[in-house]
Amino acid sequence: MLFRYVMKKLVLLDRDGVLNREIGDYITNKEEFELLPHVIPNLKRLKNAGCKFVIVTNQSGIHKRKYTHHDLNEIHEKLKEALAVEDIYFEEIYYCPHHPYYSQCICRKPKSGMVQKALARFEYKAEEAILIGDTPRDVEAAEGAGVRGFKINANYDWKWVIDQLEKERWLD
Ligand SMILES: [Mg+2]
Ligand SMILES: [Zn+2]
Repeated sequence: MLFRYVMKKLVLLDRDGVLNREIGDYITNKEEFELLPHVIPNLKRLKNAGCKFVIVTNQSGIHKRKYTHHDLNEIHEKLKEALAVEDIYFEEIYYCPHHPYYSQCICRKPKSGMVQKALARFEYKAEEAILIGDTPRDVEAAEGAGVRGFKINANYDWKWVIDQLEKERWLD
């Protein structure tokens, strides 16, 4: 009998522009939150390859009082409900509520705090994780923790990332 070591795989996801439509402004309530159409097929493909998911998102609108933790929870409940019917779940949603005008934190991307927290809490090595984001600061946050970051175009299908990972056999 053959035993094959299956690598643990963690996909860290930026939120706005990757999972839901980036509207060029803060998303302050669940009505403004629109899941992008390619997200479910893409996450299904990754899930079938054994990936787990964690969201890492900057939400400084909280510090700027554009919306509250409660509003953000409502938005995330809407997201989780939309994906639960497809049997897709997040291990965690980490968000940074801070704004540099008010305080310097270690979680706001391009800093790597949220990425490091996810790796530590769920016991992944850096090479067992990737991050998908739509800005250079997402990639910087990943790389600061030794994680490979993929920069996609906001709101565009990022199927190519999965194709690339498949080609490299990272998803095996
Ligand atoms: Mg984004
Ligand atoms: Zn923070």
